[in-house]
Amino acid sequence: MKKIDELKQIVGELQDLQAVLAVLDWDQQTFMPRGGAEERAAQTATVSRMEHEKFTAPALGELLQELQQEMNNRDPESDDYCLVKVMSREYNRKTRVPAELVAEFARATTIAQHEWEQAYHAADFARLRPHLEKIFALRRDYAACFAPYDHIYDPLLDEFEPGLKTADVMAIFNKVRPRQTALIHELGARPQLDDRCLHQSFDPQVQWDFGVKVATQMGYDWNRGRLDRALHPFTTTFGLGDVRITTKILPDHLTSGLFSTMHESGHALYEQGVARHLARTPLGTGASLAIHESQSRLWENMVGRSREFWQWAYPQLRQCFPTQLGTVPPETFYAAVNRVQPSCIRTEADEATYNMHIMLRLELEIAVLEQKITVADLPEIWRNKMEEYLGVVPTNDREGVLQDVHWSCGIIGYFPTYALGNMIAAQIWEKARTAIPDLRRQIGRGEFMPLREWLRDHLYRHGSKFEPQELVRRITGTTIDPDPYLNYLYDKYREIYY
Ligand SMILES: [Zn+2]
Repeated sequence: MKKIDELKQIVGELQDLQAVLAVLDWDQQTFMPRGGAEERAAQTATVSRMEHEKFTAPALGELLQELQQEMNNRDPESDDYCLVKVMSREYNRKTRVPAELVAEFARATTIAQHEWEQAYHAADFARLRPHLEKIFALRRDYAACFAPYDHIYDPLLDEFEPGLKTADVMAIFNKVRPRQTALIHELGARPQLDDRCLHQSFDPQVQWDFGVKVATQMGYDWNRGRLDRALHPFTTTFGLGDVRITTKILPDHLTSGLFSTMHESGHALYEQGVARHLARTPLGTGASLAIHESQSRLWENMVGRSREFWQWAYPQLRQCFPTQLGTVPPETFYAAVNRVQPSCIRTEADEATYNMHIMLRLELEIAVLEQKITVADLPEIWRNKMEEYLGVVPTNDREGVLQDVHWSCGIIGYFPTYALGNMIAAQIWEKARTAIPDLRRQIGRGEFMPLREWLRDHLYRHGSKFEPQELVRRITGTTIDPDPYLNYLYDKYREIYY
């Protein structure tokens, strides 16, 4: 057998094990009964260990080394070259971490996720605290495997954004913070928009059906996916033929569930749009978390919160809820879905305040890792920073430090990708508008296929062949740049608020 085919057989089996883990996780977050938590933790730990052992086998390392030689004079954009490059990077990363640490981390995070649910409902941080302490300690042990590093956060960030450094993120955030804060203050001084039309009673089943209709119009392929309910909505990929989304409907808020469905559908379009021949390889998925988030945000915000989208969608939504919306003019509705209101909950945050929630989390997780603060300090520092950045204070920890499941899943180093995703979305959106001159009118008619096809051609189909900064440069001509995002925010919100 040729060496490259030998590699493809191994990566196929690794993909199978990763898909098994994804199924276990999806089930845990959707349908698993509470009593299943302990055994699920053991199952996840066992499969994680099998995957890790297979991924870190010395024979694979030797095979990759031989293939690197073979690839020397191959086209750097060919699938084989990219596969060897991505596998070598992952192999080097994983062989630094002992299998025992991987298994312990999987066990601890599975239990903590379950504890988070209990703690969240009871708004009882004390219940989660020991589990978070364990997880942060295990992440420090993980980072130590990569010493020396420039910053303890670098090895954690690298897992989600290959090639990006903590210093790069800090530089981008430092550029964004003053201009975004200034915009929030400027809008705060303007008369507030009325969004009462969104806060009425709306039949959840009718909301659900409307979300399905919009996802279908966006081009979500139901033969290769399904939609279910989850406490914290997410998208998961078991293979290019099975990309699942979840959502959360609120009976007293009209657009929360819809935008959540559009957000996850955006993630899913990306996964469903990867070239078929990359299936069952690590190239057959999105390039990074920030690139992924750029696609969910592009569909949720640039499309879903645009005036043109509601030209198409509002008459239909009105038909679904004639009692609630019959007397609400389209302009009032458009303003309502774009109301800027500093609030405590990240997932409910508007576009103008969203990044401040991310900066808060980044600063806290870095401080805990650096042991400048303890896990026990988190609730209070959280409240103080919320007051400082957004002028609001959570009344309990469910509205504060307990609101996100990420840390309980061990996902540390991930939050900045949300803010970077907003910025990349604006860069790509600017490019798409130039490339498709009729784009806005098409959206006004509910025609989303030209946009989806453009995104598929320029982004989706490549999967993870290219690192995020390289991919952004290929599409837009520059690496990650916050200016298009800041311009987009200023143009949009000054038009709405003045
Ligand atoms: Zn997302």
